[in-house]
Amino acid sequence: MQVLVCAAPGEMTLEETDTPQCGPGQALLRIHCVGICGTDIHAYGGRQPYFSYPRVLGHELSGEVVATGDDGDAALVGQRAYVIPYLHCGKCNACQRGRTNCCQSLEVIGVHRDGGMAEYLVVPITHLVTSETLSFEQLALVECLAIGAHAIRRSRLETGERVVVAGAGPIGMGVAQLARAQGAQVMVLDNHDGRLAFCRDSLGVETFNVTEGDSVEAITAFSEGAMADVVFDATGNPQAMNRGFDFAGHGGRYVLVSVVRADITFNDPDFHKRELTLLGSRNATREDFDMVTGLMEAGKLHERAMITHRAPLTDMPTIMAQWCEPSTGVIKGMVRLVDDAGTDTRTPEALHE
Ligand SMILES: [Zn+2]
Ligand SMILES: [Zn+2]
Repeated sequence: MQVLVCAAPGEMTLEETDTPQCGPGQALLRIHCVGICGTDIHAYGGRQPYFSYPRVLGHELSGEVVATGDDGDAALVGQRAYVIPYLHCGKCNACQRGRTNCCQSLEVIGVHRDGGMAEYLVVPITHLVTSETLSFEQLALVECLAIGAHAIRRSRLETGERVVVAGAGPIGMGVAQLARAQGAQVMVLDNHDGRLAFCRDSLGVETFNVTEGDSVEAITAFSEGAMADVVFDATGNPQAMNRGFDFAGHGGRYVLVSVVRADITFNDPDFHKRELTLLGSRNATREDFDMVTGLMEAGKLHERAMITHRAPLTDMPTIMAQWCEPSTGVIKGMVRLVDDAGTDTRTPEALHE
C-alpha cells in the first residue's frame, strides 16, 4: 500500500509498504479522507513539541472497515467510520475520573504513533465510530469539531450567553458554530477578512477584524457594556492569548483551546476583581465526539463548507506547503484517497471537485 511519510520538517515522501494485518480487538480501515489541521501543519513545519520523525501524519480520519481481527466483530465490515485518535491508558488518575482526553500517557494516532496518511490503517475497535448517514468527508471532520465541543463543555456554556471566539481557523469556527447551536450569541475575532466573511455568511455570527480597531471597544458594543460571559482562544498566538483576558466580563470564563510554547501572563488585580475562571481545554472525550456526531447527523452544523481544498494522497508532497499558508485561502484541506463513489483517487486526474 501507499503511505505518505513526513520524513523531516518540510519533507513528505510517498512510500510503498505491506498492508497491515489486524489482530484481536482491531479493525482494518481503508482510509477515505484525512483532514489536515494545525497539528499536522506544525509537525510538517517542525514546530510541534514532542514530535519525532519520520512519522505518518493524519488523525482526522474516515474510512471503510474492510476486516476485523475477531469474527465476533465481522458485522463492522463494510461500515463507514471515523476514528477517535486519542489512545488513553485507562489506568491513570485522569482516565479513572473520565478525563481520558488528558490521560497522563496519552498517545495520539498521527502524532505519537503513525497515522492515517496511508491507504490502510489498523485501529482499535473501541476507537472506531460508525455512521450510516454521514459521508466520509463529514466523518473526517468530527474530530476537529469535537475539540470545539470539548471546549464548550469545559465552559459550561448556557443559552443566551455572550461568547467571544478569538481565532477563525477551523477550531475557532468549530467553537463558534457549536456555541451558536447551544443558543449563545457569538462574536468571532480574527485578522483575516476571508475567514471572517465565512463566519458571518455561513455560521451567522458577528465578526470583528482586530486590525481595524480596538477589540475591547468592539466587544463592549457587542455585549452592551458587560463584556463576554465566555472567551475562547483558538489563535495559537501568545500575544492574543494574553490579550483575551481583557475580553471577559465580571464572573466570566476564559477557555484556552490553543497551546503555544510560551508563558501566558495576566494582571492579577484585573483577574481577581472580575473573579475570572481560567480553563485549559485539551483534545476531546467520547461524549464530545458523540455530541458532534449527533448535531452533524441532524444537519445542525456547517461543517462541509469549511473544506476549501481537496487533493489525492499522491499530490501531498508538493501541495502540503501551500496548505500551510493561510494566504492561499485554505480553511480546511482534505486528503481524498477514495471519492464517495468508491473510485480510487490516487491519480490527480481522477479527482474532479
Ligand atoms: Zn486535528
Ligand atoms: Zn490514562
